Amino acid sequence: MNNDILIKALALGERVRVYIVRNTECSNEARISHDLWPSAASVLGKVMAIGLMMGAMLKGDEALTIKIDGNGPIGTVCVDSNAKGEVRGYTERSHVNFTNKYGLDDVTTLGYNGYIDVIKDLKLKDLFTSTIPIQTGDLAKDFTYYFSISEQTPSVVTLGSKVDTDNKVMVCGGIIIQLLPNAQESDITYIESKLDILSKTSNLLLENSDLEEILKLIFDKDYIILDKMNVKFYCPCSKEHFKEGLATLPKNDLQEMIDKDGGAEVVCHYCAKRYNYTKEELEEILKRRK
Ligand SMILES: [Zn+2]
Repeated sequence: MNNDILIKALALGERVRVYIVRNTECSNEARISHDLWPSAASVLGKVMAIGLMMGAMLKGDEALTIKIDGNGPIGTVCVDSNAKGEVRGYTERSHVNFTNKYGLDDVTTLGYNGYIDVIKDLKLKDLFTSTIPIQTGDLAKDFTYYFSISEQTPSVVTLGSKVDTDNKVMVCGGIIIQLLPNAQESDITYIESKLDILSKTSNLLLENSDLEEILKLIFDKDYIILDKMNVKFYCPCSKEHFKEGLATLPKNDLQEMIDKDGGAEVVCHYCAKRYNYTKEELEEILKRRK
């Protein structure tokens, strides 16, 4: 059963915006599809949590892509999400696992010498890309920096994930609290007083199956829920979609696939689904090229 959910709310006299997401099932689906080892599953799960919360900041058909390359063992991490609560993602390398005395070591896994790109498709002529240098390799800290630099929105970002001994993701999710322009000094002090609770994100998500309980814990009664939506791992890829991709290949390459391989297999980066094209199907594609 999919219990993955996202809450969008206003709090503290409607002067702060709050996003809370639990994307445990999304993370497990990614883990199984991509055969992720624990710290790869943790990193991808957390980037998907950020992606889902940033997706909830969009509207209609708008969508975004987060690309992170910290020059660490995991390589590039890529996540697509949208305003409908759909997310998909992959890591360049999946068999990565680093631990330290606190548990999974995301910073070593991801690396801290590179860039975060956020590419927004607001359904306008051009895409909007913001790039920030990675500061620490700690995703929550780096996205706090991203919101302050690229979106001029002071934010608190927390992320959490726990992976069981059988490699199953027990919990994954995150919280973003953003100050709106009318926020007061007292709101900052109030949020700062809750940082201790907020920092235990995975426990909060594990102990409160109803995410509204987390809002109550942080803001008591001073909140309004704007939206509650189910979120899921979703890849819209199809055999037809990749056929269009094959049709753009040089004719020689297509001919070679027909003559030498007698067909082709295409693997979707995002969901690891495999699509097979027979010799006849490739000949058809080639014929249409002529
Ligand atoms: Zn796919």
